[in-house]
Amino acid sequence: MSSSLHPRAQWDHSYSRLSPVFYARVQPVPVREPRLLYLNDQLAGELSFDVEEFRREGAHWLTGGREWPGTRPLAMAYAGHQFGGFTKLGDGRAHLMGERVTESGRRWDVHLKGSGPTPFSRRGDGRAALAPMLREVLISESLHALGVPCSRSLSVVATGEWIDREVSKPGAVLARVASSHLRVGSFEFAAAFSASTPAERVELTRELLQYALRRHEPELQQAKRPALEFLRAVVARQAQLIAKWMSIGFIHGVMNTDNMTISGESMDFGPCAFLDRYDPDSVFSSIDHQGRYAYRNQPRIAPWNLACLAEALLPLLAEEAGLSVQAVVPEIKTEIDQFAAAYDAAWLREFRAKLGLRSENLGEDSGQAADRTLIEDFLKLLQKERADFTLSFRELAQAETVERLSSIPEGKSWFHRWQDRFRASDATTITRREQMLRANPAVIARNFQVERALKNAEQGDLTQFEALLKAVREPWTDHAEYSAAPPEGFADTFQTFCGT
Ligand code: AMP
Ligand code: MG
Repeated sequence: MSSSLHPRAQWDHSYSRLSPVFYARVQPVPVREPRLLYLNDQLAGELSFDVEEFRREGAHWLTGGREWPGTRPLAMAYAGHQFGGFTKLGDGRAHLMGERVTESGRRWDVHLKGSGPTPFSRRGDGRAALAPMLREVLISESLHALGVPCSRSLSVVATGEWIDREVSKPGAVLARVASSHLRVGSFEFAAAFSASTPAERVELTRELLQYALRRHEPELQQAKRPALEFLRAVVARQAQLIAKWMSIGFIHGVMNTDNMTISGESMDFGPCAFLDRYDPDSVFSSIDHQGRYAYRNQPRIAPWNLACLAEALLPLLAEEAGLSVQAVVPEIKTEIDQFAAAYDAAWLREFRAKLGLRSENLGEDSGQAADRTLIEDFLKLLQKERADFTLSFRELAQAETVERLSSIPEGKSWFHRWQDRFRASDATTITRREQMLRANPAVIARNFQVERALKNAEQGDLTQFEALLKAVREPWTDHAEYSAAPPEGFADTFQTFCGT
């Protein structure tokens, strides 16, 4: 085992000890000419991988081309609501290589994407293109640096093969790491497709629930109503996550239930993007014609997805309550409704921090309503003036004004109200500014820069990719080049593309 060099971490395969219906044993398909383009040294170190060994063998291991000691590849089964329609899915171009368990007992899934077809591929070729895999690196590293829970990118290996998309594209395999790859769709699979009889499906759902509790909520295993407590925990985590996304102007782009984790980590970065100018109706994804996953809809879609999770758990939820499925539904609806309250509170906390507002010394209720209005009015100003979301908040943090907004009458009056608000708080100007500078990044993985970096990378030049990656990893530091607005007109036409 490679871990013999590093006895502090080891491989395990707990997922493969589930009933076989939850996965297919399948090997990655070796690629023609693997070349390691990107390795996250720091993350590799955290997982106690030997970076030198990775530099020698990684191109083969991280594409499944040579046996990677300790790994036991499989493709995970899941289902999902895609743009509202329910389908059986599964890893169609991905392999779970195993779980890395660190000395502290933390367990990480190590997963390859683009590593070849599986029994779940349907019509897909099992491959991934280079640019979207590098995109996933930029976006996930940016989110991570911004303090947003997300899967992490460990490596990208170019395959030396061309794959057929609309045009021919260079291929790559991504390795990513997450606290698990259990999704809402994993439970939907268990409830709908795991066996031919309803009774068997309930038992398999129970098995998956117990597994998820072991991994994510060990303290709830002994709970009286484990399914309910589990649902509550997932609802709570998703409320925090979506509020974080909103506070940094992040649009996931494909919030299908198969892309929503139960760990509360952001996952599957397809046509996602950060807002440039503030427009809550923004949709960048070329496949999202109805705007289902627009920026403003994210907090509405999340509870819709969570209701799918609840539905999959319904027989267990009913059994625990000693009720019929029908009789337990009202209580479960109330649980899903908790999302809105938890999200609202998290949203207020995030945006208060962005505006330097502290909640102390205020009558809680009046303070909350007034602050909410103050925040919403600022966002309306941004929208009206088509101002850049990230840069406007950053300017506010640095200069206590936003030039573009303070010159118009509504802007002037907003700034007066904002200043007045501070008289109610005991924060000094310095602590306020520090708080704002920590809540308002200077650097995000900005669309025009991401596009430019990827275009060059496809032509073999990784310089811009590497420079942008370095910048997004230090989001709180002003950076002349990467703290700049997009060129005029760019934001009007920008679209992102999925599933490639
Ligand atoms: P995604 O849009 O990446 O969340 O993927 C949705 C589903 O399509 C998953 O089951 C993927 O495994 C599958 N899929 C996407 N692209 C491919 C491909 N090139 N080959 C096989 N399966 C794919
Ligand atoms: Mg997916």
